[in-house]
Amino acid sequence: MTELNRILEIAQQAGRQAAQLCRAVHAETPESMDKSDKSPVTIADYGSQALILRAIAAAFPHHGIIAEEGSEHLRASAGEDGAEKIVRLVSKQVGQAVTFDQVCAWIDHQGEKNAKFTWSIDPIDGTKGFLRRQQYAIAIGLLHRGIPYAGVLVCPNLPVSLEQPDGPKGVMFVAGKNQGTQSVPIDGGSPSTIHVSTNEDPASWRVLGSVESAHGDPALVVAMMEEAGVGGGFVRYDSQVKYGVVANGGAEIYLRPRSKPDYRENIWDHVAGVIVCEEAGGRVTDVDGKALDFTLGPKLLENRGILATAGGAVHERVVAALAAVESRNQSPKI
Ligand code: AMP
Ligand code: MG
Repeated sequence: MTELNRILEIAQQAGRQAAQLCRAVHAETPESMDKSDKSPVTIADYGSQALILRAIAAAFPHHGIIAEEGSEHLRASAGEDGAEKIVRLVSKQVGQAVTFDQVCAWIDHQGEKNAKFTWSIDPIDGTKGFLRRQQYAIAIGLLHRGIPYAGVLVCPNLPVSLEQPDGPKGVMFVAGKNQGTQSVPIDGGSPSTIHVSTNEDPASWRVLGSVESAHGDPALVVAMMEEAGVGGGFVRYDSQVKYGVVANGGAEIYLRPRSKPDYRENIWDHVAGVIVCEEAGGRVTDVDGKALDFTLGPKLLENRGILATAGGAVHERVVAALAAVESRNQSPKI
């Protein structure tokens, strides 16, 4: 087995465990314990991160980690009930009794600074979607010297087949550098290689964006569509499932204009999705068509927003339309 295949195996195993934990929390009543910036976080976010970092720490102790959560807020806000609950949920997934301190140590595992390989983890991307029981993703990405190298994007509520929205749900998108992207049903079933849409007609190109208007600029998305003659509809999903849907041919465009001039994207909101999309034949840049720079730590400091597309002509047309709309706007909003 190559090292890349071992990486993907371990990430899939951890991703599947994390998805089972999230589903177990859904089977009870998930509650938010808001963080200081008022963004929601749940026991499932912490449990998922503990399971993923436990697996990475054991298999790749020398790799670096950039992950969304830390145990400090969990310790301060879980209370006795929350602590008992996360211990029970994590113990069930790992098949042995664990302690609360052990769970917190996994959550805080940092690995080595300046390592050649750095994992970028969002244990629940789209926590608002998770709380609404809609779309969310468990995003396990790996950078090699700042370039996306592997990704497992687990989408527990996404239909396995986009043509059958009422069919079975729960799919993982698995991508390794130069190895393509596979769609793997979480609950068993054959993996399949996926590819972006080859639709060349802008009139039927479909666009994806955030459910949360505050995470982007929906008016700019609509203006881009009018400018570029894009007419296949604008659908809004939480989380990186948007990258998975573009990778799987379910939409041609995922546009995420910057919500405000000083907003910088978190890398854990993108690394796994970017490689899933690129290895399926898509292209991902910022809204100016500039390559994403993942070498600058936890944030994309040098990029404005995100554009992921089915590639080639789609990408060029959207970048040109955005530039035209922006040059008409007296005071650009992004
Ligand atoms: P989505 O579901 O695609 O809107 O993405 C969810 C992610 O948006 C969260 O994980 C946050 O890290 C991120 N986020 C929070 N605030 C903003 C903002 N103002 N602009 C862009 N992204 C944001
Ligand atoms: Mg996120």
